[in-house]
Amino acid sequence: MSFCVALDGPAAAGKGTIGREVARRFGFAHLDTGLLYRAVGARMLDGMDPVEAARALRREDLDRDDLRSAEAAQAASKVAAIAEVRAALVDFQRAFARRAGGAVLDGRDIGTVICPDAEVKLFVTASDEVRAERRYLELAAAGHDVTRQAVMEDLRQRDRRDSERSTAPLKPAGDARVLDTSDLSIEVAVARAVDLIAKRYCK
Ligand code: C5P
Repeated sequence: MSFCVALDGPAAAGKGTIGREVARRFGFAHLDTGLLYRAVGARMLDGMDPVEAARALRREDLDRDDLRSAEAAQAASKVAAIAEVRAALVDFQRAFARRAGGAVLDGRDIGTVICPDAEVKLFVTASDEVRAERRYLELAAAGHDVTRQAVMEDLRQRDRRDSERSTAPLKPAGDARVLDTSDLSIEVAVARAVDLIAKRYCK
């Protein structure tokens, strides 16, 4: 039986942590779809044509250790605006969403484009300040040389690009539940998501 949880929202709103934890609790597979775009962006930075890179994406491209950098994030949001890049990544994501045993996918267009019939759709968001602070602490802890100002600028630029592009822009699906995590601890945010999913999954 398949069961798809679509987690969308802007950068650093908590989708990744919620996605991992929901997957663990329900035994679902988890796909961080941002990693696909980061991998294509990184290959573009290596000099490859992004459409070719998306069409030829391999499992090991997702294991590169430079995918979490600010450069890879910016490159990801640039290649993500190219319709052919997105098209090349659709089948893999749709097959993942409908695998047996359940799946949680986090990204920007899961509830709107990849899995519009997802059993649960959550749009996870938080204020710019809270998201920037969380991402800053995360990057600093991982040893990246960043400033709060630069992180805020990166998030704002990417959110603008992601929301304004014509193909699969970042926006909540009409039937998504919005979860604003600005004033929530990660434990409470996860608990809210788990409650919502449990209501549908245990029916
Ligand atoms: O989620 P993450 O910040 O890793 O995503 C990096 C970039 O990839 C985003 O800024 C966005 O441009 C793009 N992306 C997307 N659609 C998705 C996931 C990520 O366009 N489903």
